[in-house]
Amino acid sequence: MFEKYVRILKEHSMKVTPQRLEILRYLDEHRNHPTVEMIYLELKKRSPSLSKTTIYNSVEILEKHGIIQSLRIIGNETRYDYRSDLHHHFICKKCGRIFDIDLTCPVIDRVEKNGFKVEEIHGYFKGICKDCLEKEIEENGPKGTS
Ligand SMILES: [Zn+2]
Ligand SMILES: [Zn+2]
Repeated sequence: MFEKYVRILKEHSMKVTPQRLEILRYLDEHRNHPTVEMIYLELKKRSPSLSKTTIYNSVEILEKHGIIQSLRIIGNETRYDYRSDLHHHFICKKCGRIFDIDLTCPVIDRVEKNGFKVEEIHGYFKGICKDCLEKEIEENGPKGTS
């Protein structure tokens, strides 16, 4: 079940280590854009000897190879994303979850026409996610009915 991740590491000529495989699998299965702390707490359950430093070093090198990407959306917190392609994010102000948003940036062509090469685009939307909205309606009733 790690075959997919072994292949990714080999494609990038990276050494295959159990930690790297575990981290990649975790990020792939949990698209919640976790912090190192969140990855650590989860993986430690299965591998108690795992250290936070190992995770820091692993995500850093995975990012350097362009396999994963890091996001700094909320304060100084760094979150990690299994997807390294261009996409945007939606942050829920209530539950703090971060969702992937697929949309093509309408401005990129204009920027590149001016001679710039765009390598990263970060678009953030902030608001309330669907789950929280539904919860709100359950608790307060639909808006505007007061
Ligand atoms: Zn929410
Ligand atoms: Zn993402």
